[in-house]
Amino acid sequence: MIRTLTPLAVLVCAGCAASGATPRSEGGAPATATTGALGPATTTTATSRPTSDPARTAALTTALTTAEELIGLYDGVRVPGLDDRRFNHETYWRSVEPYLGGSVASVTVGESAEGRTIRQLTFGSGPTTVLLWSQMHGNESTASMSLADIVRFFHEHGDHPAVRRIAQGATVHMIPMLNPDGAERFQRRNAQGIDVNRDARMLQTPEGRTLKGVTDALTPDFGFNLHDQGAAVRVGQTNRGVAIALLAPAFNEARDVDAKRRRAMQVASLLIGAMDPLVGGHIAKYDDTFNPRAFGDLMGQWGASTILIESGAWADDPQKQHLRKTNFVGILTALDAVATGSYAAFDPDVYESLAYNGRRVPDLLISGGTIAVPGIPVLKADILLNYDRPLMHEAGVITDIGDMGETEAQDTLDVRGLYLIPTARALDASGGLDAGAPAHFIVAEDREGLRVRFRFEGGPARREE
Ligand SMILES: [Zn+2]
Repeated sequence: MIRTLTPLAVLVCAGCAASGATPRSEGGAPATATTGALGPATTTTATSRPTSDPARTAALTTALTTAEELIGLYDGVRVPGLDDRRFNHETYWRSVEPYLGGSVASVTVGESAEGRTIRQLTFGSGPTTVLLWSQMHGNESTASMSLADIVRFFHEHGDHPAVRRIAQGATVHMIPMLNPDGAERFQRRNAQGIDVNRDARMLQTPEGRTLKGVTDALTPDFGFNLHDQGAAVRVGQTNRGVAIALLAPAFNEARDVDAKRRRAMQVASLLIGAMDPLVGGHIAKYDDTFNPRAFGDLMGQWGASTILIESGAWADDPQKQHLRKTNFVGILTALDAVATGSYAAFDPDVYESLAYNGRRVPDLLISGGTIAVPGIPVLKADILLNYDRPLMHEAGVITDIGDMGETEAQDTLDVRGLYLIPTARALDASGGLDAGAPAHFIVAEDREGLRVRFRFEGGPARREE
């Protein structure tokens, strides 16, 4: 059963009530702010379990800093100034700058199409080379925030055992915000309109060429490809929203598993364990179909054990700060394990047994209303819509109109007894209504729209802040 929103609840608290992206607890009961997104973690996501040799495993894994400790210290290293996930190049680097120049070095390795600098940060001097890159899609900023926090942790806590192990065992290179022009517009593509992650073969974008050039120069042992995915995806067949999706990408059509890919799977397995305390039960596996145009997939061919981390959505967290922390904990644990070699103790089957990203559920069902288009007979019809900005419940676009009786949606807005009167914005040039139109209505008690209950302007209500 999907949660039902009353118009009153929407008006009172649009931001917290209409949680279109809400991961739900087991059985599909609505998650609420009081129980947290999950309530107690109902974990079908297996915690990483070690492989056969218990003594070796114990020796390796007890050396790792626990997720609980990293969670405990997180607030002290969270970089200020990045609370809104829509930040641009200038804001990002202004926030990170105070933590550079000590143990974390910064060099410019490229320029975007519009001339913004692309910077590579480097920490440590160990033999294992790691390359992490984030925000190659400009509107996928979660991991950029996490990398900022990791840089601050490295900078301020050089004596922490995990930081020392990472510095000694690995050389960690980070390219946060690979696509600064996209970030400037908060759009997926770069300023040339190209999806940089489909440019790995042609290398027509300066951003893609930069990543390829850095990869060729470093020949990393491990690559971390850091993205955000859509908010409305479920874990397999469950009703739980995906908070994190992981992938050890295939490097060929046959999806073979060689030693490199197996290592990536082991890292993915340890990530599941590290992230489980924060998002247990809400971790899925990303589609592993080989894509010869994508960087993550070709990195494998080029020699790196590559791990894709996709940040999805979390209850009542439109700015994705919980997933920012989740990435911080997961990535640091992975760096620790890669630097020390302890990843080798993890069983790839833990990752393999994850359920895939499942179905995408429409964002909102407006049910039971009477639609009153001026000049056309009224009719009873439900409306289905998706938000262009799902975490904010903004910019709703109508996807279907009619009898949606059995349709499942993230949220339902019950408007029984009320009239939906489309505004001029929703109507076509001839005054008709169609799927694809912006969802803009007056919601009224009468068909003329004299007794207005509330206005639906792309979303249930405007956020007050
Ligand atoms: Zn992406």
